[in-house]
Amino acid sequence: MTTVAGLMRASSLPALETRILLEHVLGWRRTELITRDDEELAVASVDRFDALAQRRSAGEPIAQLVGSREFFGLEFEVTPEVLIPRPETELLVEIALEQMGGLEAPRVLDLGTGSGAIAVAIAFSRADAQVWAVDQSAGALAVAARNALTLLGMDRPLNLLQSDWTCALDPALRFELIVSNPPYIAQNDPHLSEGDLRFEPRTALTDEADGLAAIRTIVQTAPFFLSTGGSLWLEHGYDQAADVRALLTARGLSDVRSKRDLAGIERVSGGFFTA
Ligand code: GLN
Repeated sequence: MTTVAGLMRASSLPALETRILLEHVLGWRRTELITRDDEELAVASVDRFDALAQRRSAGEPIAQLVGSREFFGLEFEVTPEVLIPRPETELLVEIALEQMGGLEAPRVLDLGTGSGAIAVAIAFSRADAQVWAVDQSAGALAVAARNALTLLGMDRPLNLLQSDWTCALDPALRFELIVSNPPYIAQNDPHLSEGDLRFEPRTALTDEADGLAAIRTIVQTAPFFLSTGGSLWLEHGYDQAADVRALLTARGLSDVRSKRDLAGIERVSGGFFTA
């Protein structure tokens, strides 16, 4: 007879990962894995667990195996077509909410939205915000649309648009806030062939250049869409803050600054359009 206790003992995965897969397969909560750990499991459940555990051992990300990842306290659908939301990106949402502080019905744009994590988290936290989100990938937009519907409901649609950065946006649009977590890993960075990154969309991770190419494009084009006093904030790599600040300053933005993530790393930089 196969039980949770038995599978936990036999699994070669880290205990936390085994638990997450078991919760997913059985539809149980963490506490049930403990209180019901001696119950006989259906053969079909055991087979499903074994299949997922095998795929995990071969490297597939947990978020893709269970189809979701928590971000900003919300459960987002994740597929291989989108970047898996990361905890450090919550900083970008926090900055956005802070900047929107005194504004009524602020207009917000998320460039390269992927799963929609940033845009949906902002819209969820600010019911009056008008949120736009673009991505060049139709597959990603479909995931973002489902996340928006599930987490925001029918009455709070995101304005989703297929667009290569700002290319397809109506040039008359203006935003108080523009945010982006663009691909910023350099083409030759060995991390691209390690861990979860091997299974995520390459276009969401690297610009196939020095890691600053997408950021340069955004810094050049996004300010055309800022309202006076509006600001642009970008997530970037641990060693890119000075470069990104220089780009923002050269583009004419003012009050340029970087903010640190929970690990103490300058992770997001931004500036204001005051001209
Ligand atoms: N923070 C991600 C990582 O290092 C990269 C995401 C991105 O390029 N925007 O895995």
